[in-house]
Amino acid sequence: MDTADAGFRSGFVAILGRPNVGKSTLVNRLVGRKVSIVSDRPQTTRRRIAGVVTASAYQLVLLDLPGFQKPFDSLTRRMQKTVDETLEEVDAALVMLNAAEPFGGGDRYILSAASSSATPAFVALNKVDLIDAARLKWVLGQAEALTGGAPVHPVSALKGRNLQVLFDDLVAAMPPGPKYFPEEAVTDQPLEVLVAELIREQALRRTREEVPHAIAVEVESLTERTDRPLVEIVATVVVESESQKAIVIGKGGTMVKRIGSDARAELEAVAGVQVYLALRVKVRRHWRRDDAYIARLL
Ligand code: GDP
Ligand code: MG
Repeated sequence: MDTADAGFRSGFVAILGRPNVGKSTLVNRLVGRKVSIVSDRPQTTRRRIAGVVTASAYQLVLLDLPGFQKPFDSLTRRMQKTVDETLEEVDAALVMLNAAEPFGGGDRYILSAASSSATPAFVALNKVDLIDAARLKWVLGQAEALTGGAPVHPVSALKGRNLQVLFDDLVAAMPPGPKYFPEEAVTDQPLEVLVAELIREQALRRTREEVPHAIAVEVESLTERTDRPLVEIVATVVVESESQKAIVIGKGGTMVKRIGSDARAELEAVAGVQVYLALRVKVRRHWRRDDAYIARLL
């Protein structure tokens, strides 16, 4: 950790919001690189991912958190706990709402959790690219009614609209502090975690409805060759049933091959080296109800 320069501001910002509201998209957009996987299915983000933005006068560490959800199985209980603990240890919270969908109990819960904590909270109304001006005016009113009049930033994380003002507000809320991460860092995730997340993203994208968020990925080994710029990875896609396994493997192995080659392309782009990826599929029944197993994944 560097010593703080006079006037340098830094801190941690928790990005909170219902699943699918655009948290990962926003973090990636602000960081300018893919540090968190994006999917239109809930529960894609299981870990907190720190996106790091550093400039000469500040460093912002963005935590992309799982959505607030009602306790359902041990996975979501754990997510909930992560979120609650995080609110206590951050310097600011950014609550994201979805302008294109009606607000719900989840949104109200998040707003009240954020506003009842001592942490300064900001509110972004995302996906405004999907609605017209008249609708936006109306939704903004609705959102401000929920925040008790606190300002709401209309943004599009996807299109990069109106993010600067929000970002400046976040920076201004940071206390004087040190550089927590080296200047060139964009995330605190170890390579294994990034690899597992990128594979999971591709597996989810390819299997859509058939394997509803029952996929976990274990990285068995990750070896950087010393004789040439090549990383060799052996990973396993874990599903909950034989029928899901059959779907992920596909006819004659075509599906798992496609998942592997898509993930490899993403990995090569992110890591900047050639990647050899061996992908296996195995069944572990009810892994989402197994706390010990989930603890190892998280
Ligand atoms: P998270 O679950 O909150 O992390 O949401 P993601 O970042 O994974 O995004 C969920 C889905 O919403 C993805 O399909 C994104 O491409 C999409 N999305 C995110 N932000 C925007 C936005 O500003 N406009 C539109 N149209 N789509 C968005
Ligand atoms: Mg996410």
